[in-house]
Amino acid sequence: MNNTIAIYPGSFDPITNGHLDVIERASKVVDKLIVGVLVNSSKRPLFSAEERVTMIREMTKHLDNVEVASFEGLTIDFAHQNGARVIVRGLRAITDFDYELQMAQTNRILAPDVDTMFFSTSLQYSYLSSSTVKEIAKYHGDISMCVPEYVARLIEDKMKEI
Ligand code: ADP
Repeated sequence: MNNTIAIYPGSFDPITNGHLDVIERASKVVDKLIVGVLVNSSKRPLFSAEERVTMIREMTKHLDNVEVASFEGLTIDFAHQNGARVIVRGLRAITDFDYELQMAQTNRILAPDVDTMFFSTSLQYSYLSSSTVKEIAKYHGDISMCVPEYVARLIEDKMKEI
């Protein structure tokens, strides 16, 4: 049997119900899913990479075949380092499509042995993005529909710090 290892790279700043939905679904079709938290030096994240890794681990601890790690640099290098042949990404709307297609094609040129697998968003999460969540939280709006309670509390605490 093939042992299919996949990575799910992203900023996850913070993880939302939309991301978690993709993780749950992807974990059912691959043998191992590694969520890769991108340490992106050009963006100023709300949560540090360590904080993001910790919160994703907490939110996925019920999924036996899901691991979480942070990475820097190229996604395909992270895939190769982990023996992964699949990159998981989510598609919400047509606005994601151009960017995601371009990235998938670039990654295929760089690493023909790695393929991208897209999960279309579940309808109830199609509006959801990490930046929307941060914007709502900044003005003390209700984010309980967007993220698990545990994450909502971390966001509220973080907003008090800044
Ligand atoms: P990035 O900065 O790499 O786009 P994100 O954390 O914003 O990282 O997203 C990671 C992946 O998850 C992307 O493929 C994105 O399209 C997907 N994604 C984000 N929000 C949702 C959602 N609500 N439903 C499905 N996929 C999503």
